[in-house]
Amino acid sequence: MDKKIYLDNAATTMLNSEVLAEMMPYFNSIYGNASSLHSFGRDAKAAVDLARERIAKGIGCKPNEIYFTSGATEANNWILRGVANANRTRGNHIITSKIEHPSILETCADLERQGFKVTYLDVDSYGFVRIDQLLHYLSKDTILISIMAANNEIGTIQNIQAIASIANEKGIPFHTDATQALGAINLNVQEMKIDAMSLSSHKIYGPKGVGALYIRSGLLVDRFMTGGEQESGRRAGTVNTPGIVGFGKAVEICTRDIVANSKKLKSLRDYFIRQVQQKIDMVYLNGHPVQRLPNNASLSFAMVEGESILFMLDMQGIAVSTGSACSSGSLQESHVLKALNIPADLIQGTVRFSLGKMTTKEDIDQTVDVLVSVIKKLRHISPVTKAQVGRLKKGDK
Ligand code: PMP
Repeated sequence: MDKKIYLDNAATTMLNSEVLAEMMPYFNSIYGNASSLHSFGRDAKAAVDLARERIAKGIGCKPNEIYFTSGATEANNWILRGVANANRTRGNHIITSKIEHPSILETCADLERQGFKVTYLDVDSYGFVRIDQLLHYLSKDTILISIMAANNEIGTIQNIQAIASIANEKGIPFHTDATQALGAINLNVQEMKIDAMSLSSHKIYGPKGVGALYIRSGLLVDRFMTGGEQESGRRAGTVNTPGIVGFGKAVEICTRDIVANSKKLKSLRDYFIRQVQQKIDMVYLNGHPVQRLPNNASLSFAMVEGESILFMLDMQGIAVSTGSACSSGSLQESHVLKALNIPADLIQGTVRFSLGKMTTKEDIDQTVDVLVSVIKKLRHISPVTKAQVGRLKKGDK
């Protein structure tokens, strides 16, 4: 097979050529430090300011509410630690969910070791956060609610507006990790009453190693990095001018094209799912069938190992992922699929296909053909018993 097929766009995306073109001068021509007072610095600062404006426009906030970071991992660390430390005297309770990204869950675990209390909300079988539990666990000590906008493994899009309204009514700050949602769904922090939001550039055809944290002005959050006066003295360190320029352009493009892109991806993704389900037995879609990221198809194949599928597809030039890229190296059971109560054997047989702007119908047809033969081969050598086959065929997930 000559052409490689990349179906791992939830892990990262290819840099958009328009974005690259906009970044180029900032490597070796307009290379000043954006904090310098001379013309080299002023030119760099103007570019950073423009990127800040573009991102603010993309999410409906003011430019001075955007703080550039090295990515969403840093933004998630900042908001959790920053709110916790700034509000120590007001309360010590944080609410999040069981299906968050490790940059939220590991940071919460760290805060628990420091004496904070964290409630991890359950999700239903589609991956929607249990709103009844949110209402139940809210208390006068709650200082932050952090729920992701869309899940990176199963693609389920949360009812963020409903959660934000509850937080708002109770006067509790609401943060959302919108890393996967940016460019896929409309995000207007003003309309949606979101107080803080984490973003990343490399999931939207921008460069890697840059992202942002939106912090509503007036929200009590400690600064993250100490040092110079960059980012209003809240996140010290010379800013990554080319990265920020690229991120700004990528946000402008993805918010401009959101409707057309989502429509194209959805129809290609649904075609893929239909083809797979028609041609392969005992395969189940994870997450909500409709309220999901337009490019995500998380599928569990009975009686096969996800890793084996991944390696066999890779041998044919097709790139996919088991679980999320961050945890798939560890061969640990996905915490997200576990939270959905998916049986262990199906968790093991789960593969995430995430389409991108470059994906074509030919790519999908080719992938389905290869997948059919890979699953057939793997099932042929699978040691699973006839009894298990019978149980699975009855649709017992
Ligand atoms: N949150 C979510 C939901 C993600 O999917 C990712 C990337 N896998 C991150 C946070 C971390 O983003 P970054 O790579 O920019 O640190």
